Amino acid sequence: MARYTGAVCRLCRREGTKLFLKGEKCYSGKCTLTKRAFAPGQHGKARARKASEYGLQLREKQKARRYYGVLEGQFYHYFEMAEKKPGVTGENLLQLLESRLDNVVYRLGFAMSRPEARQLVLHGHFTVNGRKVNIASYLVKPGDVITLKTKSRDSEKIKSILEANASRPVPKWLDLNRDTCEAKVVTLCAREDIDLPLEEHLIVELYSK
Ligand code: SF4
Repeated sequence: MARYTGAVCRLCRREGTKLFLKGEKCYSGKCTLTKRAFAPGQHGKARARKASEYGLQLREKQKARRYYGVLEGQFYHYFEMAEKKPGVTGENLLQLLESRLDNVVYRLGFAMSRPEARQLVLHGHFTVNGRKVNIASYLVKPGDVITLKTKSRDSEKIKSILEANASRPVPKWLDLNRDTCEAKVVTLCAREDIDLPLEEHLIVELYSK
């Protein structure tokens, strides 16, 4: 499946916010954004012009896409799904993005970043309801049980991730047993469970033009 393979810190600089795409570096003083807090490219340092309404909507959509590591076509597909669901479209959209298996793995502290979570899922380290699932875009639903495979827990890399994330809070819509590395999806996440600085109504306005 296609994915962005360029320099990820560049994406944070473009959005002017930390997207947490590199794991430990993002939480340290080495974060690129703290040293180069301006847009990438030749004119990045030039005084920013006031963004148009369209510009603001576009940036918000790009920011959301980049948080979750989703390409344009798939993102629009989520928007279409969100529109068909009852409730507020913007909130439905974020709920769908949060339900992706790679995001859930990240939220559970089994990975340092969403890109790393995606890679671990693709490498088959997780089961859902006892069956191996290596599809990062798999959408979890209430009642699903996500388990880090026993064999995978012996990997030095995974051990260090679990150690580093031992005290990272887990959202309340997921019930994690840290001893067995097993988690149950209690319910679908609500808007207040999502800690990302996103104004989803701008994305809806963009696609509704
Ligand atoms: Fe973004 Fe992390 Fe790079 Fe900082 S270190 S710019 S948060 S990807």
